[in-house]
Amino acid sequence: MPETILVCGAGGFIGGHFVRRLLAEGRGNVRAVDCKPLEQWYLRHPEAQSVQSNLRTFDTCQNAVRGATVVYNFAADMGGMGYIESHKADCMLNVLINTHLLVAAREARVRRFFFASSACVYAADKQATTAIMPLKESDAYPAMPEDGYGWEKLFGERMCRHFREDFGLETRIARYHNVYGTHETYHGGREKAPAAICRKVAQAKISGVHEIEIWGDGEQTRSFTYIDDCLHGSELVMDGSYADPVNVGSSEMVSINQLVSLVEDIAGVKLRRRYKLDAPRGVRGRNSDNTLIQMLYGWQPSTALATGLATLYPWVYDRVSRLG
Ligand code: NAD
Repeated sequence: MPETILVCGAGGFIGGHFVRRLLAEGRGNVRAVDCKPLEQWYLRHPEAQSVQSNLRTFDTCQNAVRGATVVYNFAADMGGMGYIESHKADCMLNVLINTHLLVAAREARVRRFFFASSACVYAADKQATTAIMPLKESDAYPAMPEDGYGWEKLFGERMCRHFREDFGLETRIARYHNVYGTHETYHGGREKAPAAICRKVAQAKISGVHEIEIWGDGEQTRSFTYIDDCLHGSELVMDGSYADPVNVGSSEMVSINQLVSLVEDIAGVKLRRRYKLDAPRGVRGRNSDNTLIQMLYGWQPSTALATGLATLYPWVYDRVSRLG
């Protein structure tokens, strides 16, 4: 009998891509769940059982998990820095999704449970300069995560750990670092830096107004993980025997100014830069230390940022030119 695999948050960016990958690999019957109406899902797959359901309550989680042996939890109310800094309570309410899902998964004797965590769990004092040391998994403690969203992710990680230790539910945790790719949010307030910059460059090109607004001074550093690497890394983490959190992130660190230059090169345009110094900026520097994932699985994300952006930019440009 093929397994039933539950993907929560399947109407979103990573969940939608992940369902596609599971189906392509013929891994089992896929049940895709998201609270958004089906017509708003970023990717829809007719071969999957797609269900609209709000997973904040225990009964909806019980229904979603019924008959499933594997659970991926990508469901979360989240967005880029502009969103999470102004929606801390909403982000913390994600605790209801993960907690109810864990209890339902335990009750249903699920074989394995995946939690999509974030580099926002890392302690702020280790990210205070642009030339930052890459963050290794132990740098999440002593705890000083991103307020709101990061605290909830760190709590979610601990819940997974204790459900494994106390109840024998096999949980796996990936800490994603800034994932980007097609079919992600690119406007509306939840978008993250790569898609936001692609949109601004596309708008400048289309309108002929050759300037761009950059949040902060543009010197803040990050690494950006291409969606295919995120999916592959997630599968390795889920299928592997290591149960503590593992970074799934690119180690190619760039400043936001460098990110803008890369998109400008792809678009064939040079823009005047306006810096919005009072905009949300997040930590000063962040990068992924990939020693652990390399040691465990002989792999780490390797898609060059320029290569990934060369896929994202035309996708965003196409939508901006059609939809504005
Ligand atoms: P996304 O916003 O595109 O997808 C999340 C989905 O969860 C959305 O479609 C949303 O409707 C759904 N959702 C929210 N609340 C729900 C609820 N109560 N019940 C059912 N569905 C609900 O985000 P994403 O980029 O695909 O992120 C997926 C996961 O990875 C999230 O947990 C996120 O915190 C984590 N993550 C993402 C990144 C990134 O850069 N994209 C980085 C770190 C961690």
